[in-house]
Amino acid sequence: MRIVQKYGGTSVGSYDRIRNVANRVKALYDEGNEVAVVVSAMSGMTNKLLGMAKEMSDNPSEREMDVLVSTGEQQSIALLTIALHELGIPAVSVTGRQAGVTTKGSNTRARIQDIDPTYMNKILSEGKVVVAAGFQGLNEEGEIQTLGRGGSDLSAIALAHAVGADLCQILTDVNGVYTSDPRVVKNAQKMDEISYDELLELASVGTKVMQSRSVEFAKKFGVPFEVRSSLNNEPGTLVIEEKPSMESVVIRGVSIERNQARVTVTGIPDEPGWSGKILKALGESEVNIDMIVSNIANDGFARHSFTMNSDDLGRAQAALKTILADLAGGQIETEAGIAKLSCVGIGMRSHSGVAATMFDALGEAGINIGMISTSEIKISVTVEEAEIEKAAQVVHDAFELGA
Ligand code: ASP
Ligand code: MG
Repeated sequence: MRIVQKYGGTSVGSYDRIRNVANRVKALYDEGNEVAVVVSAMSGMTNKLLGMAKEMSDNPSEREMDVLVSTGEQQSIALLTIALHELGIPAVSVTGRQAGVTTKGSNTRARIQDIDPTYMNKILSEGKVVVAAGFQGLNEEGEIQTLGRGGSDLSAIALAHAVGADLCQILTDVNGVYTSDPRVVKNAQKMDEISYDELLELASVGTKVMQSRSVEFAKKFGVPFEVRSSLNNEPGTLVIEEKPSMESVVIRGVSIERNQARVTVTGIPDEPGWSGKILKALGESEVNIDMIVSNIANDGFARHSFTMNSDDLGRAQAALKTILADLAGGQIETEAGIAKLSCVGIGMRSHSGVAATMFDALGEAGINIGMISTSEIKISVTVEEAEIEKAAQVVHDAFELGA
């Protein structure tokens, strides 16, 4: 089999951890597999490098930042390759450029345009292990570019696609994808499988298992992969294209997102153009809006409520002040200290009463629901941040996810 494995920063975070990875790779190699390994920088290294640039300038050039931070991955590929040599395994390290990764777009957040796997294929066909640097590539002008934080996940998925791997494994410090955050919901279970769309929804609502762009890429190109632990040999969670049998599970997972805030604008004239105007002001101030609820109050004026990360609240207030003057006695109300709870599952499409079950469970626990929003495979509500853990547990119980 041709296997691509990706080890994140924690998994290569010390010399011992690197030796552990080398042993794991050796085991696969000894079974007769062709193995390509993608690695991140040692944990903390990318931040350290970013800090070094800040010592030189408050506003370092993004081009030079990429030259600097890409060295983190270059350290780990060489160290892992040397560790493999110590075990008698023929291995060759490759940078993003040598791996044939062409990027496009802006420095520090580039995208992968194309991968030419010729050199990697040659190494593999000579019976050697490829150790490739994640997170980096070269654009058509020949500049080193990085793929945004957490970008090694994307490198691994794209590389697996390019070399036609039979199996792609993302090895990390968790055992797989869980039905909820195990630190909060004690009986959360590791899932055997999850669809790309469900993982994307869970990721966007706070279950940070992998960089979302990498999951989008996997979905687009149909690259199945497994998320599993680099510290044990237990099977992890398979992330795959959805299949009909998956719909029998109503809710795949419950995720929580803390540190949310709500802004409500009242006194909005009930006429065309206002929603656009408000959202434009928020967008120009780089406020990331999440949920939107709007309705017409008894006085004939509309009110809009938005949620966002609390960190954006100050900017949102400033942006909306410019609009306030045009509002007929309208006001801007804010509330911090809220959190978002979401149920995600493609089974929602074919099961009714999912929202009722969720809301009932919260009601019975005496938890008040603030805002509600739904999509085809997700229902989200806001609650007081102090109640989020209890909320997650009762909803998790209501859907019997604890097994
Ligand atoms: N080293 C990079 C980062 O810390 C890429 C990665 O870890 O995936 O963001
Ligand atoms: Mg990482």
